[in-house]
Amino acid sequence: MSNLDRRPAARELGGLEGTAAGPALDLLPGKEVLLGESTYVRRLLPTLGRRMVGAWAFVDHYGPDDIADGAGMQVAPHPHTGLQTVSWLLEGEVHHRDSLGSDVTFGPRELPLMTAGLGIAHSEQSPVSHPRFLHGVQLWVVLPDAVRDMAPVFEHHAALPGFTSDGVTATVLVGELGGARSSATAHTPLVGVDLELTPGADVEVPLDPAFEYGVLTSTGAAEVEGAPLTTGAMLYLGTGRRTLRLRGGATADGRPTRLMLLGGEPFEERVVMWWNFVGRSGEEIAHYAEQWNAESDRFGAVVGYDGARLEAPPLPPVPLKARGRER
Ligand code: MN
Repeated sequence: MSNLDRRPAARELGGLEGTAAGPALDLLPGKEVLLGESTYVRRLLPTLGRRMVGAWAFVDHYGPDDIADGAGMQVAPHPHTGLQTVSWLLEGEVHHRDSLGSDVTFGPRELPLMTAGLGIAHSEQSPVSHPRFLHGVQLWVVLPDAVRDMAPVFEHHAALPGFTSDGVTATVLVGELGGARSSATAHTPLVGVDLELTPGADVEVPLDPAFEYGVLTSTGAAEVEGAPLTTGAMLYLGTGRRTLRLRGGATADGRPTRLMLLGGEPFEERVVMWWNFVGRSGEEIAHYAEQWNAESDRFGAVVGYDGARLEAPPLPPVPLKARGRER
């Protein structure tokens, strides 16, 4: 998806000051954000309290929305730089087109992974004939300096690895958990896993003590290390953990609880994130925005989309600068 805010804030991300030196259990309740005219999402990252978890820099949880009588998701062509988009559906279908010529409709448990590198454009739409409910998590991963100017790549992983044991089913989107390793391309040590817990399941999953982690409840409710976690909320777990204890709560309709476990090596580089761009300075971001609005070849064109592109909003009045020091 796109950041559809017409006055998006510039965020300075990265650096190690915000990384817990050991285990933490900080609740990130998220914030309701209006996307477009009528779609609300819960933004878990970045928030006032936390900017990143590993290289994960953006997490929106949306739905389930009943789109039976509407068009559903309609995000016009827009650009990205310096990041990867990870789209995860719990219900529904999305039609992705991009300036590489990718034209893919994906559903639950499939991973479309778009690496923007130096620049890409894409559109995302609910198909004309679509399932009744749309429910998912949209995530961005910051690319490290060494590869951020790489040529863009789109990967569609229709089958993902995972495992089932004692009330938990793990699906590994990115990285590795419990011996199941995804073939999705990651450019920093990173993990992203969907965990489905049967009601009352009481399980431990293995973690890497060098990673920092966060866990989000996308469906139902859970207990994470004894702390209750309701739908749409996230816990920051810090570093230094070797295991994570999870209990599945009861859901109203008897469906399993779904969690998303995100982790990675703390991201040390300092970056600037504004609208749909990640760069290293305000000047760079301003240049990306000018190039997009001028229809530069940097981003290419999305062929087949019927409608206008999203224009980059006006840059904030204060120049974007990566400051030397951050909280
Ligand atoms: Mn997008």
